[in-house]
Amino acid sequence: MDSSMYDSIVIGAGPAGSTAGLYAARASLNVLVVERGIPGGQIATSHLVDNYPGLPDIGGVELGERMRAHAEAAGASFEYGAIEQIRKGEPGFEVDVNGNTLMARTVIVASGAVPRPAGFKGENSFRGRGISYCATCDGMFYRNKTVYVVGGGNSACEEGLFLSNIAKRVVMLVRRDEFRASRGRVDLLLARDNVEVRYLTSIVEVTGERFIGSITFEHNDTKECYVETFDEGSAGVFVFTGNDPVVELVRPYVTFGPDGGVITDDSMSTDTPGLFCAGDMRSKPLRQVITAASDGAIAATAAYVYIQSLTANS
Ligand SMILES: Cc1cc2nc3c(=O)[nH]c(=O)nc-3n(C[C@H](O)[C@H](O)[C@H](O)COP(=O)(O)OP(=O)(O)OC[C@H]3O[C@@H](n4cnc5c(N)ncnc54)[C@H](O)[C@@H]3O)c2cc1C
Repeated sequence: MDSSMYDSIVIGAGPAGSTAGLYAARASLNVLVVERGIPGGQIATSHLVDNYPGLPDIGGVELGERMRAHAEAAGASFEYGAIEQIRKGEPGFEVDVNGNTLMARTVIVASGAVPRPAGFKGENSFRGRGISYCATCDGMFYRNKTVYVVGGGNSACEEGLFLSNIAKRVVMLVRRDEFRASRGRVDLLLARDNVEVRYLTSIVEVTGERFIGSITFEHNDTKECYVETFDEGSAGVFVFTGNDPVVELVRPYVTFGPDGGVITDDSMSTDTPGLFCAGDMRSKPLRQVITAASDGAIAATAAYVYIQSLTANS
């Protein structure tokens, strides 16, 4: 077997990937974690995480960075770059990153999820020019301005609350006639003087020259539409309507659940021996930091057992 072969390559340094790196390193596996963005993944786009046990009110960037540092201190190596392809080798796997081909006995894919577009006209073309999916990243551009927040779940409420500290006015646009978020989060949001809610309301179109200058809204029951106009740049739209699993790398090797996530067994194994998937990219009922971290720990432990079985059989 090639001596430059890693025991495990982990793809992604979000909560699932960093935790997989931590557990793999603590099991004395030679593990490399590869990240194309910044450690923390999605949670690095959240200003506050208030439900990770033992760490109340920690910032998302800090939590992601602490997870990475913990894994590195345990012995995991980190490299920055995008994995372009995974190939099944004989034995193990080959992955391409930064123009190099790396080899590993096992691969743990923890590529997470990306924000799902709300689907209105102009959403794509005004991305970064009035449309945002990250309040932590872009909220500051709307100091004393108006922001519309699309979504009725926990993320929408959490980020709406954050934006209410910056913007003059926060308008929550909820598709249904009630929030899906937990009561506590909704109550906190509704207690803010500068927050208003429009239930049964969606955006159908945004228009403008350089930035958004008008928004067309639709009442979801009556289908009645109305338009609001403003000076370009004086209003923004933040979309929090869910996330889609990032699964392209593993498409040839796995099967998918109805939510588009990868189906694994309880040990995070996929249809392909030695290939594990962990975190939000899996088909699962709850996509949170704690479930992602749990998946990562289980995947690394299963990778260890799998490597032991290879050694025993050779
Ligand atoms: C705005 C927001 C607020 C949230 N708030 C909370 C909260 O308060 N509490 C909570 O528990 N959860 C919260 N979540 C959900 C939580 O962030 C996710 O469940 C969690 O981050 C999933 O972790 P993950 O490691 O599976 O995936 P991700 O966090 O998505 O990380 C995946 C990583 O893989 C990397 N990657 C993908 N493809 C490649 C590739 N080809 N090569 C290299 N790297 C790659 C990505 O860059 C990313 O860093 C929130 C999410 C959002 C968007």
